[in-house]
Amino acid sequence: MTTYAFPPPALPTVPVEGSSDVFPVRRILCVGRNYAAHAREMGGDTRDPPFFFAKPADAVVPLPTTVPYPSATSDLHHEIELVAALKGGGENLTPEQAIALVFGYAVGVDLTRRDLQGAAKAKGQPWEAGKAFDASAPISAIRSMGGPPPQGAIFLSVNGEERQRGQIADMIWNVAEVIAKASQLWRLEAGDLIFTGTPEGVGPIVRGDRIEGVVEGVGQLSFTLA
Ligand code: MN
Repeated sequence: MTTYAFPPPALPTVPVEGSSDVFPVRRILCVGRNYAAHAREMGGDTRDPPFFFAKPADAVVPLPTTVPYPSATSDLHHEIELVAALKGGGENLTPEQAIALVFGYAVGVDLTRRDLQGAAKAKGQPWEAGKAFDASAPISAIRSMGGPPPQGAIFLSVNGEERQRGQIADMIWNVAEVIAKASQLWRLEAGDLIFTGTPEGVGPIVRGDRIEGVVEGVGQLSFTLA
């Protein structure tokens, strides 16, 4: 029997809508620049394909609760995203195999310390300080549903004013392609969450702001920055 040197940390979890079950989070992968209009607003070349980065599993913040304003930034940005939650794994999957792994979908916000991310980009340094900080992944309950996501709108408001709006259909890599491409780089497993990228309109938020996000057919989230 395993005995730990100290009590092991609790497994991060996300509620499952309409169920007493919770979804155990293994890893969080994120896609960068998966909507052309957002790639352009970030100064990217839209001929470059999307790419992956990661957050630690314990970055999830199951809602409702307040989200702490993080340390070391004066330019925290919101990025509303569709999140795919996996119930199975594999590697080198076809898009058809990949989409069969979907347990359900959630609405997430990829909180970003844009100033630290920009400094890292300028120096060719890693993005963790900008992207993978504590509580950087507020997320709604997961709606259990298989297959591709509903092809609706995705939008976010701050203090009631709309800031971001896009269409899930506008993703450069669709969900099946995102999961298949991720599986070429990592062995995926049940419990993995994939943030699938944000539409245009990202911008700063400050303490006291109320953030509300919707992915039509998937759910909504809201939180206040404390
Ligand atoms: Mn993002």
